[in-house]
Amino acid sequence: TTPMPWRPADRSKVYMADLESALHYALRIEVARFSVLTGERLKALKSFVAVLAKYFPGRPFVQNFLRSVNRWLRNVSGPSVPYRALELVLTNRKEGLAPAVLSNNVTWVGCQGSKPHFRGYPCSLWTLFHLLTVQATKHRRLSTGPLEVLGAMRGYVRWFFGCRECAKHFEGMAAESMDQVSTVNEAALWLWSRHNRVNARLAGTETEDPKFPKRQWPPLDLCPPCHDMVNGRHVWDEAAVLRFLKAHFSPANIFLDFTV
Ligand code: FAD
Repeated sequence: TTPMPWRPADRSKVYMADLESALHYALRIEVARFSVLTGERLKALKSFVAVLAKYFPGRPFVQNFLRSVNRWLRNVSGPSVPYRALELVLTNRKEGLAPAVLSNNVTWVGCQGSKPHFRGYPCSLWTLFHLLTVQATKHRRLSTGPLEVLGAMRGYVRWFFGCRECAKHFEGMAAESMDQVSTVNEAALWLWSRHNRVNARLAGTETEDPKFPKRQWPPLDLCPPCHDMVNGRHVWDEAAVLRFLKAHFSPANIFLDFTV
């Protein structure tokens, strides 16, 4: 196989190519594994698409696309949806729009691994959900509650995420403490702290890309004020972390490099 071209990425940026690739992979590959969507799985899909339609700060044509998929899903009557029917909406064939809004393949930039089996989709899914939790803090009038985005993530991971071991671990963390989240700011911080737990658990294991060692995030060089020392022990300054999350996962920090 031909090696993938190396796309230089900056760790202080978020890349739209990763986010749009996550949408493509989630909706066209992971959801497509189920030929009929019904019950809790259909509910999880609806919640996921609803938060995307509300909070994903995409390019206008992508936002329009997500809103139209959301409208379509909200209008389905009956207890089940064949994936074939959803696929027609996802590829815009009904409206006669060509070509499809979501590209037919993935381009990893910030989530590019040093080998094809590293990083990619799981990295982009984390990035997408951090972005959504942060966007929900900025559009409070749209919010239906502090667990709106986290609940959608929990449902997506539980019912669709192809890494079943990941889903089991994430569900464990969610069941343990997600219901203690009582504000949208706490929701963004909850996801940040759980992601760091996963980073700590996976550091040094074979899933770690040697070119991207798993560290606690954000590292000192990305956010000096996030780090503190109390009695010789490292502690996070959570107010600084929240400010950093809001700046890092903001539309102004999303770059369009390598999008088509
Ligand atoms: P990732 O951990 O994927 O992070 C992506 C990017 O997010 C980083 O490059 C960084 O820019 C940013 N980031 C890092 N930490 C944080 C943070 N704390 N807050 C905000 N942003 C951050 N793999 C397993 O082997 N076992 C598991 O049990 C497992 N569980 C998972 C559960 C979920 C819900 C998901 C989405 C993934 C899970 N994975 C698991 C995959 C694993 O967490 C990584 O996504 C994968 O190994 C790729 O790692 P990465 O180096 O690209 O960085």
